[in-house]
Amino acid sequence: MRNDRIDPVVIFLIIFGVACIGCLFILFASKVLPEGAYRCSKCDEYTYDREQYHDEFRWDYDIVSVTNHYSYSGTVEGSSTAAGFLLFYESHGTIEGSLEQQETYSFYYVTKDGGYKKMSIPVENATIYYTQEKPHIYCGWQAGNYWICKAGHKNYSWQVTYYKIYVPEGSIAEEYDLG
Ligand SMILES: [Zn+2]
Repeated sequence: MRNDRIDPVVIFLIIFGVACIGCLFILFASKVLPEGAYRCSKCDEYTYDREQYHDEFRWDYDIVSVTNHYSYSGTVEGSSTAAGFLLFYESHGTIEGSLEQQETYSFYYVTKDGGYKKMSIPVENATIYYTQEKPHIYCGWQAGNYWICKAGHKNYSWQVTYYKIYVPEGSIAEEYDLG
């Protein structure tokens, strides 16, 4: 009678082959994103839980009135600064090949060491609120479909920097030139 026993080498090869296919399957399965999950753009982590709107505080500066600014620099002229403008609207033509206008709100804010610095922000990203409080500008950042993975990668599908300007009524001047 012939010996029908299978060669141990063949058995080993079959077991090895099955193990390999199993490993590949597990590897493949781990790369497939589960239904309704969102993968981090930088690593393999995923989440089911995203914030539809995520808001972050950026900064909040007191705005200095032009009157105060002039007082500070010692050049008060009376009539020219009587209105005490806090904020001014400016429209600049851009020279880089287009005639598009860039509209900004400009203001002076107080720096940490007590200086005054001018800043301009795009009109379309700003909302003005009239207030009785001290004039100030709040800057926030909003992102949509936001989440952070364990490695700290920030994920979102859109983002915008926005400004809320709190000023007394009638404090916006057009094309005002500090000179
Ligand atoms: Zn990540």
